[in-house]
Amino acid sequence: MRKKIKRKRTRGKSKITFMKKPEIAIVGAGPAGTSLAIRLAMRGFAVRLIEREKFPRHKLCGEFISPECLPHFSELGVLDSILEAGGERIAETVFYAPGGANVAVPSYWFGGNSGALSLSRAEMDFRLINKAKACGVEVFEEAQAIGLLFENEEVSGVKVKLKNGETKEIAARLTIDATGRANVLGKLAEKRSFAKTENRSRKTKTQARLVGFKTHLENVDLEKKRCEIYFYRGGYGGLSRIENDLANFCFLIKADLVKQFNGDAGKIVEEIIFRNRRARETLKNAVPFIDWLAVSIEGFGVKTVSPAKNLFAVGDSAAFIDPFTGSGMLMALESAEILARCIANNSFAAEQIEENYRIFYFNKFQSRLRLCAWLRRAAFVPQASRFIITALSFSEKARRFLAHSTRQSLTDNKNK
Ligand SMILES: Cc1cc2nc3c(=O)[nH]c(=O)nc-3n(C[C@H](O)[C@H](O)[C@H](O)COP(=O)(O)OP(=O)(O)OC[C@H]3O[C@@H](n4cnc5c(N)ncnc54)[C@H](O)[C@@H]3O)c2cc1C
Repeated sequence: MRKKIKRKRTRGKSKITFMKKPEIAIVGAGPAGTSLAIRLAMRGFAVRLIEREKFPRHKLCGEFISPECLPHFSELGVLDSILEAGGERIAETVFYAPGGANVAVPSYWFGGNSGALSLSRAEMDFRLINKAKACGVEVFEEAQAIGLLFENEEVSGVKVKLKNGETKEIAARLTIDATGRANVLGKLAEKRSFAKTENRSRKTKTQARLVGFKTHLENVDLEKKRCEIYFYRGGYGGLSRIENDLANFCFLIKADLVKQFNGDAGKIVEEIIFRNRRARETLKNAVPFIDWLAVSIEGFGVKTVSPAKNLFAVGDSAAFIDPFTGSGMLMALESAEILARCIANNSFAAEQIEENYRIFYFNKFQSRLRLCAWLRRAAFVPQASRFIITALSFSEKARRFLAHSTRQSLTDNKNK
């Protein structure tokens, strides 16, 4: 519920600008930030959304939108717009070991009848941010959060740098870190020694750092309605068709292998990924349509859901689930839905919001994060991936069980 609140005094010399009714500032306009902004705006909160890029923009991602995301889009009022963007409906995902052994997981096992969706992040994120604007969210693009504001040792907003180099302060009663894996506001809070150490021990680190690559390709030799995952030494990658007769190819690989090839994605594909027989078949004639994007990935797992008073994290900022096993976009949408509910039920009572959010968050995600971490570790060992794929190919029951477990919550949604 929107409340009329007093304008608060800030420390330091900078003025508060952009101010009308300072309520909620969300930093980051990925699926977590935009969906939270839409949900809160729909409930009458005054929301500001701050994003460093100008949309539409390409984003490194497998671009596989799990079927359970579609009901979220429907609730957000953006489903039709997203479907109109013309992505590919995915009926099954097929996992290929290097030698060709494979196992298929139909999309309907995750719910719904129309399958998963494969659509560029450029399109999906653009449609979400436009919906946020239409709901009355005040959106600032090309505005990078560079600092947190504090008042009486509590977070009271963010400091942003605009494209023209000017800096502004945006006051807010609640501030949300939706900056993705970068976890920008959480790190800023930590620097100021406000980060809570709780849950740090849960953070799992990869043994070696990884690098993710992605491009859009023309001329792939891939059946329609299919997503394929290829395992190879030091990583795995996913291929699926998206809109405009293109396909998205996104892969993860150990950083030491990337160094060996001087970061040349094309060479890595030919020398490493093509050792997976099926990848060689589908990709041999493919041509990149956009430049390769690359990001380094330092770790997976839970960070903290509330790094300081009045500051909350959603999506990858709260926890980064392993790509290709878990669904990061689904977690982004689900965590935003949980946080929106906690904020709406507790108005601006930060302690209450934190307590509820923490409980619902861990009930929902803890077991799936654990399972997906285990699957990722196995995926990096070719013998293990071959063994698991072969074993699973004999049992549909085991495949179903594993697929469901990657989405499971401790309470089976009873907290809804
Ligand atoms: C290799 C790889 C493949 C993946 N494949 C899939 C997949 O196929 N399916 C799936 O569901 N998930 C996948 N994921 C995970 C998925 O991309 C994330 O889980 C999802 O994007 C998280 O959404 P988010 O909104 O939390 O963060 P993001 O989508 O990362 O959005 C964060 C936003 O914050 C902005 N931002 C960052 N810093 C600042 C700042 N200082 N100021 C202002 N704005 C800022 C960024 O520009 C960005 O727009 C993959 C991830 C990787 C690494």
